[in-house]
Amino acid sequence: MCSQIRIREVLVRSALTRSRLFDYCVNPYAGCANACVYCYARFATRFSHPGEPWGSFVDVRINAPVMLERQLHRARRGDVYMSSVCDAWQKPEAQYGISRRCLSLLVDWGYPLFLQTKSALAERDFDLLSGCTAVQFGVTLTTQDAFTASIFEPGASSPAERLRVLQEAKRIGLRTFVFLGPLLPGLSDRGHGLGSLFADVAGLQPDILYVDRLNRRAGMWRAVCAAVSSIDPALLPEYRRILFSAESSDYEVALRHRVEQVASEHGMLQRIHWCF
Ligand code: SF4
Repeated sequence: MCSQIRIREVLVRSALTRSRLFDYCVNPYAGCANACVYCYARFATRFSHPGEPWGSFVDVRINAPVMLERQLHRARRGDVYMSSVCDAWQKPEAQYGISRRCLSLLVDWGYPLFLQTKSALAERDFDLLSGCTAVQFGVTLTTQDAFTASIFEPGASSPAERLRVLQEAKRIGLRTFVFLGPLLPGLSDRGHGLGSLFADVAGLQPDILYVDRLNRRAGMWRAVCAAVSSIDPALLPEYRRILFSAESSDYEVALRHRVEQVASEHGMLQRIHWCF
């Protein structure tokens, strides 16, 4: 992550936007200080921030709660995903509270919510969610290893902190999920890395486990390449093979097999939803 994040306050014309995965999504920020090297959301700011490295800027949608409230008066009720192209609880949220205000409105209006984060700050807002039956709360984990996570997701909370927040979400009665993805080739998609990830997750018994592989997306290779090189350059040929060659589908088959095996050992197989 860039040490200096450029924060800009911007105005938006709408905050509740139509989504392909859910009925709606709400993105209180554009850009993401979590700066995940494999991030698929970087495409969303390619025109507004040309040439700026992903993770080096965040636009704070300062009027998003006002626009959301206006939209809620006339929108048809539906599922809302927070957030599709940013982490709603990334670092600037501690100061701005935009996500909290949006969340409060959505809860008041009774919208079913699907909340996903890599940030322990989300726990701050559990006072709004306690007793909400239409909320699913989840954390993303790509590895259980804190060092690997600090290279691949430099601005996010550590894996242990994310799991602690998930535990708290369960304690207050929310339906919970873990998004295991992208599993990192050679690091968390096999052997000890995969086993310890499942052991930690199984200990918390989330209701659903989403599992995803590393996919190729525009603009991410250079950052992935640098991250892998800094951990174990010997893995680079495998990343190239998985992302750029016809062997990609063989990798998927083998990955599914490995995940099914480990999930069975931990009694989690029935809870898996595949994302590839
Ligand atoms: S948390 Fe999500 S949106 Fe933010 S950088 Fe990571 S993958 Fe991208």
